[in-house]
Amino acid sequence: MQIPKRASGLVTAALLAAGAMVMNGGPTAAQSGPRFTPGAEGAGDAYFPFAGNGGYDVEHYDLDITYTPPAPAPAPLTGQLSGVATIDLVATQDLDRFNLDLRGLDVQSITIDGKRADEIAPPAAGATVDGRAYWQVQDDTARVWELTIQPRPKLKDGESTRLKIKYGGATTRPRDIEGFLYGWVTTRDGAMVVGEPEGSMTWYPVSDHPTDKATYSFDITVPEGKVAVANGLPTGHPVTRNGWTRWSWDAPDAQASYLTTASVGDYDLRVSETPGGLPIIDAVDDALTPNNAAITEASLALQADMIAFIEGAFVPYPFNSYGAIVDDDTVGYALETQTRPVYSLRASEGTTVHELAHQWFGNAVSPARWQDIWLNEGWATYVEWLWSEHTGDATAQASFEDIMAIPADDEFWELTIADPSPTGLFLDPIYNRGAATLHALRLEVGDDAFFAGAREWLTRYDDSTATSEDFETVYEEVSGQDLGAFFDIWLRTPSKPAT
Ligand SMILES: [Zn+2]
Repeated sequence: MQIPKRASGLVTAALLAAGAMVMNGGPTAAQSGPRFTPGAEGAGDAYFPFAGNGGYDVEHYDLDITYTPPAPAPAPLTGQLSGVATIDLVATQDLDRFNLDLRGLDVQSITIDGKRADEIAPPAAGATVDGRAYWQVQDDTARVWELTIQPRPKLKDGESTRLKIKYGGATTRPRDIEGFLYGWVTTRDGAMVVGEPEGSMTWYPVSDHPTDKATYSFDITVPEGKVAVANGLPTGHPVTRNGWTRWSWDAPDAQASYLTTASVGDYDLRVSETPGGLPIIDAVDDALTPNNAAITEASLALQADMIAFIEGAFVPYPFNSYGAIVDDDTVGYALETQTRPVYSLRASEGTTVHELAHQWFGNAVSPARWQDIWLNEGWATYVEWLWSEHTGDATAQASFEDIMAIPADDEFWELTIADPSPTGLFLDPIYNRGAATLHALRLEVGDDAFFAGAREWLTRYDDSTATSEDFETVYEEVSGQDLGAFFDIWLRTPSKPAT
């Protein structure tokens, strides 16, 4: 990509001097337009225009990472990460160049199908560049972090290629657009790795948008004694050599980038199995307070029952394993990283069933645009309500009535949950009005259509992404009802629905 303000004469002159770039005015009138064009610098998400990229589809990320956590206090809270990302992708257009997202880390070398590319300074907008090349743009103010790769030969539509990207640098404590910690969050004893919505670019080069799901494998090498936990299942036993231990994991199901983790800490690993044979791998920090440890143990002991409960209401668990990462550090929230949610300080029962519900609602079926986030959080909250009823606490109807007791003039009702703005993704109404919307839908179409619609939704869009409009279509099909007015009132009207 090109950022106009970086296209200074100085950069241009330096590039020309290096013989790396030839300026031209673009296609002449005699040409019919270039067949090979740059891939888009974003996936087309209005909320995060530079998240994800266009022109290709990633199939697999193999991440080989070596990480050194910070030294003991009072040393600065920064770690050191060096990685080799091997990325298999397929062009979806005739590609002249394309981007990956990478924030705060420096690329040291890139090979494209084994052929080395040259690093250059970002060229001027519209400039052509000779040869196989790459460049990085890091603009913290504009929140633009792009790695552009120019393959030579150019990639034809449908052609596969393998990138090997060597990168690294100091790790810090990145923040999202709202100021929440996210991404590779450096902690004193390791790292809590939670990437929603577009924080995975803080630890590997990635097309960082849910619409480009891929499979993952991980080799994470950490100082001996540390434990590194990623998505999926371990590949063999950890290997220790010369004071370093390599932990290998494999996540063979399609996965949105924000759901990747490779958290590092002083974890106690426990391996068990549900009665149905699903492996459960929990990683619990050995330094939780006694109270938090007790709450966590009680909640994690319920995971198998919770899985059975959600499977009974909807469809079978969608992945090859499950489990929790519970850290004594905090990012201030829990995240449903695929197969292995990350929890801050403790895993409460409500949060545990919430993050588990996301494995279906959010992970197997992910939002196609970040504005569709209510589909994640509304469902996960609604499953909390269902679990509460199942365990003899408040019924879903009572939870619904609690929300409907919020006065009509409360600002709670002012958020349009199907379009909450990029700084409204995690506001309370996304969760609670979202869940109330689902309960109101259930009252509108009846229990049979409500649960049949959910199963259809989870089946039709499994391993994929979908929008609010797709959701509405499923329910109109399954119920045979026109639900246009219903969804307009609940999702797109900033006032309290009448019941
Ligand atoms: Zn959630």
